Amino acid sequence: MLLKHVGNICEDCVRSEKTETLMVRNLALETVLENLEMPCRNTNNGCQERLDYFDMLTHDLICTFKYYTCPTRLVTNCNWKGSFTDIAVHAATDHQDLAVKGYNNYFPFNIAVFDTDETIRILYINDECFVLHIRCDVFVKQLRCIMYYIENKEEKASDILYTIIQTHSNNINDFSHKIFSYKKDYTYAFDEERAVTIDLLLHTSNLNAFTVALKNPEIDDKILKHLECVVCNYLIKPPIYQCSVGHSMCNTCLQKLQKCPLCQARYIGTRNFTLEALCEDIRFPCTYRTRGCRANLLLTELERHESACLSKPFVCPLFRECVWMGSLCKHEAHLKLSHRDKLIFNSYNKTHIKISTTENILEMYCMITYGRIFRVCHKQSMETKTAYWVAQVRGKTDEKETYRYEVGLLHNQNKQKHHIKSDICLRSFNNKNIFARSITFSSEDISLFSFNDGFTCYCKISRATVEN
Ligand SMILES: [Zn+2]
Ligand SMILES: [Zn+2]
Ligand SMILES: [Zn+2]
Ligand SMILES: [Zn+2]
Ligand SMILES: [Zn+2]
Ligand SMILES: [Zn+2]
Ligand SMILES: [Zn+2]
Repeated sequence: MLLKHVGNICEDCVRSEKTETLMVRNLALETVLENLEMPCRNTNNGCQERLDYFDMLTHDLICTFKYYTCPTRLVTNCNWKGSFTDIAVHAATDHQDLAVKGYNNYFPFNIAVFDTDETIRILYINDECFVLHIRCDVFVKQLRCIMYYIENKEEKASDILYTIIQTHSNNINDFSHKIFSYKKDYTYAFDEERAVTIDLLLHTSNLNAFTVALKNPEIDDKILKHLECVVCNYLIKPPIYQCSVGHSMCNTCLQKLQKCPLCQARYIGTRNFTLEALCEDIRFPCTYRTRGCRANLLLTELERHESACLSKPFVCPLFRECVWMGSLCKHEAHLKLSHRDKLIFNSYNKTHIKISTTENILEMYCMITYGRIFRVCHKQSMETKTAYWVAQVRGKTDEKETYRYEVGLLHNQNKQKHHIKSDICLRSFNNKNIFARSITFSSEDISLFSFNDGFTCYCKISRATVEN
């Protein structure tokens, strides 16, 4: 936008500007900007992404270098600032009395209800964080709460509901309440209109126990309860066998037990087709629900989801030197913490590689770019006289986004001379047969570029153009 006697001003200033703004857009300049690579706005916090305008819009949502103020600041005056991935760690170390670790989407915590003050609880599970803003009013025996979700994934605050119950009361409050999205510059004013009221059953003690239960609005726990295996509590899924009396258990337990745990009758291969048909029509929660996943799918969709579930534990991408396992959403934080030297925050990486006579993998490192983790591996083989490269991307198997990687050999003196090959990045990290599909250069190719017993090459990741 153009402001008289000032020049072009940014969008934020247009809104705040009291004086008359000439609302003239400079379309030519806009086009130039849209095609220009710019650094991420969190570059001062360490983000090294440089992307064009449209990629930046998506990156901005997932950038892990965006800084938040401490969500407990209202009650602690804490001056901490940090990235999304560090909020839970900060809360658990510096505000132990306010941080609540969740399990199976339940968050148990205590509140001194005789206080009439406001308080905050940070609820965290995997890489997710919720901020619960609470105000007690003992005179009217009420607890007022507002729940916020710090959005950082595809999931929106509006996709989740919660219930808050006084833990030891028989009065099961099964209302579902809305969750609001948490802004990094949240002002902490208690928003009366959004607040939910819980009637307090005052106990003799000052400290009262509460539980927040997160819910997927579509999971029907009442029906699923009937499908729980009496032995292991997991859900029974087709094919469903029954004992001669009519009891069923899950197939894993059936293989171990053979006899019915309830009546000792034998299983003789009788199936319950009616129950199986019913199972086809109801939604099941993901197996990794206890690790924080709230997906809820038909059986036909469930297997595919579970194979790529963000809560499913996977081995570290750099598995050759590390035994850590964790859900996909934890991998970036783990890599930053434990493998800083093997991490490139860029879509381009140039290395000098020695020519080797071993058949081992010579290079294995990760690149974090486009909000994704890419793993690059390289080996040389004397036997086949070939050098191999492969770059894989970690992501969901069902997504449309595809990426390409390009490997180029560079000449140390002649800048014009190079040899480039490229291929699609395979999704998911295959650790058994890493080079099954790879880019190869023959020893002869490489010898044209060698100097100092080695050669220089680069690997570059780019987003593949999608053809319709
Ligand atoms: Zn401005
Ligand atoms: Zn960024
Ligand atoms: Zn703090
Ligand atoms: Zn079982
Ligand atoms: Zn039985
Ligand atoms: Zn899942
Ligand atoms: Zn590791």
